[in-house]
Formats: sequence, C-alpha cells, structure tokens
Amino acid sequence: MAKTVFIGVGHGGSDPGACANSLIERDVNLIMAVTCYNVLTKHGVNAILSRWNNTESDTIYEEVQEENAARPDVAFEIHNNAGGGDGSEFYYYSGDPNGKRLAELCKKHTEAIGQNSRKVIAGDQFIWINSTVATAVLCEGFFLDNAADKQIADTVAEQEKFGEAYAKAILEYLGIAYKEPSGNSGGSNSGSSGDLMRVQVGAFRGRKNAENLVKELKAKGYNAIIK
Ligand SMILES: [Zn+2]
Repeated sequence: MAKTVFIGVGHGGSDPGACANSLIERDVNLIMAVTCYNVLTKHGVNAILSRWNNTESDTIYEEVQEENAARPDVAFEIHNNAGGGDGSEFYYYSGDPNGKRLAELCKKHTEAIGQNSRKVIAGDQFIWINSTVATAVLCEGFFLDNAADKQIADTVAEQEKFGEAYAKAILEYLGIAYKEPSGNSGGSNSGSSGDLMRVQVGAFRGRKNAENLVKELKAKGYNAIIK
C-alpha cells in the first residue's frame, strides 16, 4: 500500500510568517512544499499538502486536524526562520525515535545541498509535534535574515532544492529508493531516437504573466522554464 505523507505548509493568507530581505516565509514555505510534494508523488507516495496557494489562511490548528484525519505515515511541517541564527533546525517528538531518525535524514540531505545544521532536537513545545499522531518533523530550513543562509536559499531554484532534499529524506526514511528525474534535460533520455519533443504552452508580453504560468505548471509537476 502506498505510504501517505501529510505536508503542512507553514503560515498562509494574512499570516506571512517571518519576513526579511524581501523574502516572505509563507511564500518560501509553499515553494519548498510543492517541490517536496512533486518528488514524493513521482515516487508513488500519496502526498497531501495543507494549502496550494498563498492567499488562503491555514492555521496550525486546521493543519493538525487535516493531518490527523488523513492518518499519514509521516507528518511533515515546513517553515523557515528569522531572528539572527544561521542554519537549519529539525524538530521531532522526544518519545519518537522514528521522528528523530527522519529529522537526522533531513539534516543529511540539506547538508548535501550546502546548508549547515544548527540543531536536530526534540521540539515537544510545538503544536505540530505534540498534537499530531503520526511520526512528526518540523523543519526550519534557513534564516531569511542571515546573509550566509540567504546566499543558498533566496531564489526559487534554491528553495526548490530544499524541497527536493526534504523529499529525499522522507523517501529514505520510508525505504523508497530515490530516482533522478529523467527525460526533461536530454541527459538521461530513455527514448530510442534521442530527439526531445519540446512543448510550448504560451508566450507573454508581461513577464509576470509568464512567471504565473510557470508557477502553475510547476505546481502540477512540469519542469517549466521561461526562455
Ligand atoms: Zn514559520
């Protein structure tokens, strides 16, 4: 049976979370979460996101309720930080060795993309950790207000790397082998002719419109780019 992973996307709507250096935590959390969702889904995991846009409000209480109703194998909450620190933080429930293992895997896979670890520690004080029934981890990927963190996390592509790292951690935790995506960059094309068929979906005069379409396509799992 497919494993289920519930991904809580921190903050939302009128609650922006941390804000610094023109970055809004609410928006960054969603980019990481959608990427994580896409990678998990491609590996046969039944992934669920607590929200799909930045306009709806999504309180921690609603998230926990949805998460417990879904009865997932993993309850994964995505946040980012501010307040003067440097590096990632991963929290788990003190009485759950599985949560600790998943948090340590998050550290391993975010270190692999260049992020330093600040702490992997019990976080029983967090609602996400103490109110979810499933094995739970809460991530604080990087500090929006830290110069070193900003260097590796202030673009959408870099934030997607965090989402990918989280997915790799979850897959390893679940015992599912990670497979590199194929067929969209020409490198590992499995077709016989070697010719790539490119599909164009629109051209815009306004960059914002192009960016919106890319965002929409990415949310659906396509590897869209602006040229
Ligand atoms: Zn937050």
